[in-house]
Amino acid sequence: MSELELRQAIIDQCRAMNASGLNQGTSGNISVRHGGRMLITPSAIPYAGMTPEMIVSMPIEGDASKWEGPKKPSVEWPFHLDILRARPEIGAVVHTHSTFATILAIARKPIPACHYMIAAFGGHDVRVCDYARYGSKELSENVIKALEERSACLIANHGMIATGPSLDKAMWAAVELETIARQYYHSLLIGGPVILSEEEIAGVLQGFASYGLQEKRS
Ligand code: 13P
Ligand code: ZN
Repeated sequence: MSELELRQAIIDQCRAMNASGLNQGTSGNISVRHGGRMLITPSAIPYAGMTPEMIVSMPIEGDASKWEGPKKPSVEWPFHLDILRARPEIGAVVHTHSTFATILAIARKPIPACHYMIAAFGGHDVRVCDYARYGSKELSENVIKALEERSACLIANHGMIATGPSLDKAMWAAVELETIARQYYHSLLIGGPVILSEEEIAGVLQGFASYGLQEKRS
């Protein structure tokens, strides 16, 4: 994909996440790795009027103040950048304030192995990172910790982060995370979930590895 196509794809996904109810207003932000640079949504710009040249380009290594674009980058650029720096396998980061993930984040409830799809995020749970102010270096550090051996996390009193090797896969993960958050929330209302064992989740992880979850068969 060319850089221009990638910039347009980011905007398309922003619009899609708001149209589907996964996100609302100008909350949320998306970044994608493109060579040695991070492409990230600008701050506080309604997605309807966002154009490809408004997407901010920032060096992944080196001086982040050398970002390029007519608008300021998302206030959450520190955690987007630190995730891309710390995790070379990650190609895209989606941050949303989706309702059910955020309800659990407000209640500081990590998502346990209430459904086998929890394994899609790398293990037997999805953690809630400790609270820190939006956009802060401290929040970025807390996020990196919560993402250890995981591809997603909840952000205390704020929202969620889902990642993937590509933009499409990160968005797929964001939809799956909101789905399991909604399922977990509702299971708590009817007496609480039965939690799958570590062994059962290990079996699912093994299955995903050999089945090639979300990969096209050749
Ligand atoms: P931006 O508009 O700066 O991306 O901020 C939205 C947000 O979700 C902050 O946490
Ligand atoms: Zn946010």
